[in-house]
Amino acid sequence: MPLAQLRSFDDLLVCPRCKEPLDRSARGNLRCTSQTCSIGNAEFPGVEGCDLLVDFQRSVVDREALLESSGESVIERRPWKELLQRVVDGGNRFAPHFAEDIVARLEQCETHTPTLLVIGGGQIGSGSQALYSSQKVRIIALDVYLSPHVNIIGDAHHLPLRDESIDAVWIQSVLEHVTKPEAVVAELHRVLRSDGLVFADTSFLWPVCEEAFDFQRFSASAHRWLFRNFELIAAGSSSGPGTVAAVALRYLLQSLLRSTRLGQIAAFPFSALRLLDRFCDNRRAIDGAGGTFLYARKTGQSFTESHLVDYYAEQPRFQAKSRPLRR
Ligand SMILES: [Zn+2]
Repeated sequence: MPLAQLRSFDDLLVCPRCKEPLDRSARGNLRCTSQTCSIGNAEFPGVEGCDLLVDFQRSVVDREALLESSGESVIERRPWKELLQRVVDGGNRFAPHFAEDIVARLEQCETHTPTLLVIGGGQIGSGSQALYSSQKVRIIALDVYLSPHVNIIGDAHHLPLRDESIDAVWIQSVLEHVTKPEAVVAELHRVLRSDGLVFADTSFLWPVCEEAFDFQRFSASAHRWLFRNFELIAAGSSSGPGTVAAVALRYLLQSLLRSTRLGQIAAFPFSALRLLDRFCDNRRAIDGAGGTFLYARKTGQSFTESHLVDYYAEQPRFQAKSRPLRR
């Protein structure tokens, strides 16, 4: 797995507030080198050797809780729960194709070590396993908690990475959990090189997940608008109305039975409804999607309000492009 070794990408790191370079103190902690930065020259702490490059004054991440728990997530995460959820709700059936496409494109890079940034990499995203398959592609995986899949703790609103230092960004099931999605997308645009790629997969008609840390939903058009400074390659629904119906029934039963576990058991037979997604009409499936994805490139092109209305009719055409892309 090509997760970059801790400290091997120090040259890419900057202060999350002023974006000036960092250096390491005698204790090995990073600190901002700017004399004028309002964050001062206080050291950024670390846990288990992983740097916590969070601007805590401007983040929902709690510094003391993170340090006291040695970087543990405030949301309970169990591998078996994650597996069960994928079996019941299904995975993103388009993501594997885009993960393979990103890796294949980055492997062609001959001028530098291609670097992929996974935002929200604490859990390996559904269908994203191929990202971790190449020995040529370096991965920087960021999340707000420590996990074996993370090599930097940071907040996506204030990425601690140099301008134009990243070749591709993978951001899956993240934008619904941030307070300022426009700021997050501006940050990933900043760190991407020209022609850099982004794959985003974001919730639409999905119930609240991650408890108190769930803040947004996006229709396919709203998702496209969020990425208006990117040239679109492909887009579509990552889970369709069949999955939405199964999930809605589960939440209905959980509410009626006043028990999450009993509701999950009672709803299990309905999970087969998600198989109907494969037979749905594209246009209607996008309108009733549980989540939508887009795959895009930073080219300097931007998208205006006048095109946004037209985009609604264009979307099914983009989804057709989600079959293997020409390289
Ligand atoms: Zn600074």
